[in-house]
Amino acid sequence: MEMKRDKAVVVFSGGQDSTTCLFWALKNFKHVIALCFRYGQKHVREVDVARSIADNAGVEFFEMDMPLIGAIGRNSLTDASLKMDADKPEDSFPNTFVPGRNLFFLSIAAVFARERGIFDLVTGVSQTDFSGYPDCRDSFIRSLNVSLNLAMDEQFVIHTPLMWKDKARTWELADELGVFDIIRTQTLTCYNGIPGDGCGECPACRLRQRGLDQYLSRKKK
Ligand code: ZN
Repeated sequence: MEMKRDKAVVVFSGGQDSTTCLFWALKNFKHVIALCFRYGQKHVREVDVARSIADNAGVEFFEMDMPLIGAIGRNSLTDASLKMDADKPEDSFPNTFVPGRNLFFLSIAAVFARERGIFDLVTGVSQTDFSGYPDCRDSFIRSLNVSLNLAMDEQFVIHTPLMWKDKARTWELADELGVFDIIRTQTLTCYNGIPGDGCGECPACRLRQRGLDQYLSRKKK
């Protein structure tokens, strides 16, 4: 029996990357569900931003509580007493690293999808701009894909449209998908919780802005 694969679950945070992936999925699948995790992030506003983007795009939106992620590991995205590392330290991870985050998110997303007869998962991870986060690398995603298949005896496919794109190429993809303005104005990437172009100073804003400048100057030529 041939499996029909016209549905996908997108791991969705309302940031630049996952929102670009949401629209990529809308182009490639008939039915898309956005799955958003509440994991004790300092900026719970993220979830509201994500819901409104999904609503505007006419996408089914699910919110899932995962407070254990903030409870078991110490990181500056969930712990208000930690100041975020601006750069990656020489010999370790920046404290914005949430250990196991993509492992947990994708595993939960797979079970969630399977319950609905869906076996295509989409995530916005990128090895190119991975900031030192090991669970954004292609080798991890491939390994997890095999593990999920073995764990549930299914044929999941984890799609990673941004894996080999830097931020400039991610902007380019948004433009190709016709959603450049939506990504630019509605998404929330900023670690200080400011949507659109953000605070301009945190590491996430600087990475996003650098990519945008690169893309726009390339486009002008
Ligand atoms: Zn910022």
